[in-house]
Amino acid sequence: MTFSPEDYKNAVMSCRFCPMCHDVDAVTTIARTETHSPRGRGLALFAIEKGLLQFDADVADAMYAFTADGLSREACAGHIRHDDMVIEARRRLVEAGAAPASAVAVLDNIRKTRNPWGAVEPDAAALAGKPAPGAKVFVVFGSTARARRPSVLEATAEICNRANVKVNYSTHEPDGGLLIYQLGFRGAALSAARALEILILESGARTVVTPDPDVFRSLTGGFDAYPGLPKNIEVLHISQFALKLIESGSLAFRGSSARVAWHDPCAFARFSVLHDAPRNLLHIIGGRSPFEFEWRGRRARCSGECGGLSITNPKTAAAIASNRLAEGARTGAAAIITTAAAADILDAASKLNNNDPAVLELAEFAAEHLS
Ligand code: SF4
Repeated sequence: MTFSPEDYKNAVMSCRFCPMCHDVDAVTTIARTETHSPRGRGLALFAIEKGLLQFDADVADAMYAFTADGLSREACAGHIRHDDMVIEARRRLVEAGAAPASAVAVLDNIRKTRNPWGAVEPDAAALAGKPAPGAKVFVVFGSTARARRPSVLEATAEICNRANVKVNYSTHEPDGGLLIYQLGFRGAALSAARALEILILESGARTVVTPDPDVFRSLTGGFDAYPGLPKNIEVLHISQFALKLIESGSLAFRGSSARVAWHDPCAFARFSVLHDAPRNLLHIIGGRSPFEFEWRGRRARCSGECGGLSITNPKTAAAIASNRLAEGARTGAAAIITTAAAADILDAASKLNNNDPAVLELAEFAAEHLS
């Protein structure tokens, strides 16, 4: 959904004096400063509108310390698009040459290596088996699985293989653009989203499967001027695909007695809403519903990985993850299950806490319990 200059002005005017969503802003709850609050961001942007401030390093510090997780809009009585306001401010910072070096590095890394971290990616074919050109199912693994958690790539392929589903995928999968859009690189992001779409359409596949919630969000709901894939292409998260395979008798699980809680990644919590499928899959595997966080579903709190925060402000992101992990511990579960990017940051927090609770990724957990 596009965000017009009028939408931007409306958000600035609404947020500049408003304290109402401070308690759900992941960064505000850690930083506890007015500058890093929804009101502080609105006030800074209002001052720029009035010519009292300019897009510079101080404003960049305030705008990039933000998760863009959608919870402020969810909690806002007027459904003001605070996330989009900040993303537009970041775009103006990029235009003014004032974006932080860490954000610019993400764009450079994606151009060089196709992932935000500049990591050398493992050989996908060695992990997932060779792609099957012309297959009806096309898998998009997502950058976290490719570059940081290849076990998710392997697990996704294993679920498909076990059900005898032939899948196609790109051994040089491009980035889908959502992260660089959130960091303010709008033009590059829209080009990236369209490039991924062309790759999928040219494959001839009718179904796209992904373990990555941000890929799912981009391909189903799009962002900004990118509308997502044409509606005649089915897009499924791996949890939805696994449920279909179970229903058709192609996939079965041997069960698990692990006490697990489900953390909704923000893309599923509020953007391309997908609450039931991961929970239903966990119910089938474990024979019981997963434990629930107090803040769940549409009001699930961010793990700290959204909006590029884990790259631009890693300490704040880690503190947010630590809080979310503690909330997970209060559910009584021995392990938190979520998707790759959230698992990545929560796992780091868990390791600092003697793996209490442990953190697991959904596709990995499912693949481990295949019968
Ligand atoms: S998003 Fe809504 S609740 Fe939050 S600061 Fe803006 S106007 Fe207030």
